[in-house]
Amino acid sequence: MGNMARSKSDPSEGKVEDCIFCLIANNQDQEAEVVKKNKELVCFRDIDPAAPHHYLVIPIHHIHNCFSLQRDHIGLVERMAEMGKAVLREQGITDMMDIRLGFHKPPYISVDHLHLHVLAPSSQISNYMIYKFIPGTPSFITEERLRKRLKDNAPPVKFFNNCLSSL
Ligand SMILES: [Zn+2]
Ligand SMILES: [Zn+2]
Repeated sequence: MGNMARSKSDPSEGKVEDCIFCLIANNQDQEAEVVKKNKELVCFRDIDPAAPHHYLVIPIHHIHNCFSLQRDHIGLVERMAEMGKAVLREQGITDMMDIRLGFHKPPYISVDHLHLHVLAPSSQISNYMIYKFIPGTPSFITEERLRKRLKDNAPPVKFFNNCLSSL
């Protein structure tokens, strides 16, 4: 994160030096296995897969995390999910009920560049990593739930209300 001060409405979001996902988004990481890309988003394989299919979808433009999102980002979250599902279909996944799409909430994030986890089949998520991807826990929120919260103008994450407000 360099010397950037972080705040919820950081006006300096854009490309952040030393951000590994900004490098991937800008084709500067040779290791990354990009599977889909458009003008707005990039999808690549998670280097530490928790399921037979595990991809990350990121916006090319640096946004910190789901705490940074507001109502106007509903469309973005939707498009991220659409790209994730498109990749799964292209990879031969047919049971779209057995998939998991969601975001980690701070402080449970590995890279502070907004990324949607796309996992399939969700019934085959590794036992030792499954705790990271349980909807409604303090660490993980599904994309659907996040969109609903943004729509309701509820903060994406109310840490202390979590037990009451998450399904
Ligand atoms: Zn970044
Ligand atoms: Zn993550």
